[in-house]
Amino acid sequence: MSKELEIKRHSMAHLVAAAVQEMFPEAQFGVGPVIENGNYYDFVLPRTLIPEDLPLIQKHVKKMLNRRLKFKKDILDIGDAMILFEKLNQPFKVELLKDIKEKGTTKLNPEEIEAFDGKPEITIYRIVDEKTGAVLFTDLCRGPHVDDVSELKGLGFKLDKFSGAYWRGDQKRNINMQRLYSLVFDSKDELKKYQQQRIEAQKRDHRKVGKDLEIFTISDEVGAGLPLYLPNGGKLRNLLEKYMQQEAEEAGYMYVYTPHIGKSDLFAKSGHLDHYRDGMFAPISMVNLDGEGEIDGKVEQFYLKPMNCPMHHQIYLNKPRSYRELPYKLFEYGTVYRYEESGTLTGLIRVRGFTQNDAHVYCAPTQLKDVIEEALNRFTRAYQDLGIKDYKIRFSLPDFENDEEKYGKETEEWKDSVKAMRKSLDELDVDYYDAVGEAAFYGPKIDIQVRNVNGKEDSLSTIQVDYSIAPKFGITYKDADGEQKTPVIIHMALMGSVDRFIAFMIEMTGGRFPFWIAPEQIRILTINDAVAPYVEKVRKVLKEVVLMKPLKYNELRIAVDYRNESLNRKIRDGQLQKIPVMLIVGPQDEAEQVVSVRTQKGEEKVKLSDLVEFFSNFK
Ligand SMILES: [Zn+2]
Ligand SMILES: [Zn+2]
Repeated sequence: MSKELEIKRHSMAHLVAAAVQEMFPEAQFGVGPVIENGNYYDFVLPRTLIPEDLPLIQKHVKKMLNRRLKFKKDILDIGDAMILFEKLNQPFKVELLKDIKEKGTTKLNPEEIEAFDGKPEITIYRIVDEKTGAVLFTDLCRGPHVDDVSELKGLGFKLDKFSGAYWRGDQKRNINMQRLYSLVFDSKDELKKYQQQRIEAQKRDHRKVGKDLEIFTISDEVGAGLPLYLPNGGKLRNLLEKYMQQEAEEAGYMYVYTPHIGKSDLFAKSGHLDHYRDGMFAPISMVNLDGEGEIDGKVEQFYLKPMNCPMHHQIYLNKPRSYRELPYKLFEYGTVYRYEESGTLTGLIRVRGFTQNDAHVYCAPTQLKDVIEEALNRFTRAYQDLGIKDYKIRFSLPDFENDEEKYGKETEEWKDSVKAMRKSLDELDVDYYDAVGEAAFYGPKIDIQVRNVNGKEDSLSTIQVDYSIAPKFGITYKDADGEQKTPVIIHMALMGSVDRFIAFMIEMTGGRFPFWIAPEQIRILTINDAVAPYVEKVRKVLKEVVLMKPLKYNELRIAVDYRNESLNRKIRDGQLQKIPVMLIVGPQDEAEQVVSVRTQKGEEKVKLSDLVEFFSNFK
C-alpha cells in the first residue's frame, strides 16, 4: 500500500470514530489501526451495534466529508495528556498513556504503538470544524494525517462490518469492545473492484464449495481440525492419490505403510521432542486403568507422529544397505497429527490431522541432481495434468549472514547441495527465484508456491535436502570401495498435504474439477421414464470406456437422474453440482440412436456408436 493511501486509510479511521462519537456521545475508544483493505476502530458503546447501524454511520461520515473539517495537531506532555483524556472520559487512552509512562512502548502491541511515537511528549490530533470551531473528535495518535478532510472526498469508502473484540486482545480481562471495519480505496472504482474480487473469492472458498458439493465436513463430535471426507471427497481424494502413487511408482518409489503412533524414544532421537514438542499432541501412556503396563519399571509413552520421516528411516535401517540399492526411494500416504491452536484451524488448510504424500530418498551425493530433476519433471507433469498453471518455483536458501542461529556455519555440504539443486533448476530451464532465509535449518528446499483465492501465498509442493538427520539415526550404506558412507536424505511431498492440496484444487476450479478426477463425471438426464431401457443401453456403452491418461484404468463414473422433475430443473441441479458432462436422453434420441451431450462449451448430438470414441479422448 502506498504511503499516501496508508495516510488516507488512517485519517478515515479518525473520521469514522468522530461519526460514532456524534451518534453515541458516551462512546469510549480503543485503537484504530490501518489494515490491508482499510481500517478498523474498537469502541465500547452503550449498546450492541446492529446491521442497520452501518448505513447510518456511513451517512454520517459522508456528511462530514462535505463539512469544512481540519486535522489539528497538538503536542502535550504526558501528564497533561492524561488529564485531557480523563476529562474526555476515555479510560482506554488513559491506560495506554499510563503504560507508556511506566514501561515505554515495549509492552504495547503494534496497533497500540501506532498511536504513539514513543516519546514522552504525546501528540494528539483533533478534528475541528473550521466554521464553528467545534472539536468533533480528539485522539492520541502519532499521525500523519491529511490536513483537510476534503482530501478524503474522492476515496472509495464503505463501512464493511462489525465484530466483537477484546481490549488489547486480552481474553482474561474480558473487556468487550465492538470493532468496526471500513474498506478504504483510492477511488470508487477500486473499491468496487475489490468488492467483486472478494465476492468471487468467497464463492470459491473451499469451505463453501466443499459443503455445497458434499466434499468434506467437520464434526464437532469428532473434533475441530479433523476433517471427514464425504463420498464425493473420498472419490476425488482417492483418484488424486492413485494418480500420484502411479507416477511415483513409475519413478521407482516403493510404497510402504507405517503406524500412526511411535515410542517417545523415536521422537527424542529425531529431535521432534526437543524442537517440535509444542506442535505435538500430548503423549499416550501405556498404563491401563489397573496400573498395569510398566515394562522394566518404566511407563512406556507413545506419541502421535507429527512427521513420517523417523518411521521411514527405520525401514531403511531394516537391513544393511549397499550402494547398489541407492537411490532408495520410499513413499507413503502418511497421516500426521499436529496440535494447532483452535483459532487458527481453517477448513482443510489448517488442521490437526492431515495426510502427506510423503517420500524419502536415500542417495549418494552424486545422485542428488538426478533425483531432483526427476522430481521436478514429475511435478511439472502433474501440475499440467491437473490444470495448475499459476505457480512459481522458489529456491529456498539459507541466510548464513543474518541467521547463524538457525543455519549455523556454511559447510561443504550446504555448498554442495545448493550447487546441485541450482544446477538441476538451471538445466531444466524452469523459471525460479531465490529466497534467502527460507531454507529449512537442515538444508535448502525447492518449494512450489501458489496463491490462494485471497491472494495469500502458500507452498503446494516441496523438495528438501537434508544432511543432518542421517548421522543421528546411524543411516549409512556400504559404498563400492567397501567403506560405510552417509547418504543424503531428500524429503519430498509433491502434494504437500493432500488435504491442503484438495482445498487448493477446490478454490482454483471453484469445484469444476478436471474431467478425469471429477467424482461424478457424467449424469444422464431422462426426459421421461419410457426411455429407461435406452438409458441402460447408453450406460452399458459408457461402461466400456476406461481412461488410460493421466490416470490408468480410470473407469467412467456415471449417474442417472430419473427424478420426476422437469428437464430444466435437472439441468440446473447438474450445473449447481458442477457435473462436467450431462447426457440428455429422450424418445427422439432413442429413435435416432443418439444422445445430446451437454458440457460447459455447449450441446451436441453424438451417435451411440461414436460414444466410446468421444469419451475416450474427452478432456
Ligand atoms: Zn491518527
Ligand atoms: Zn521427511
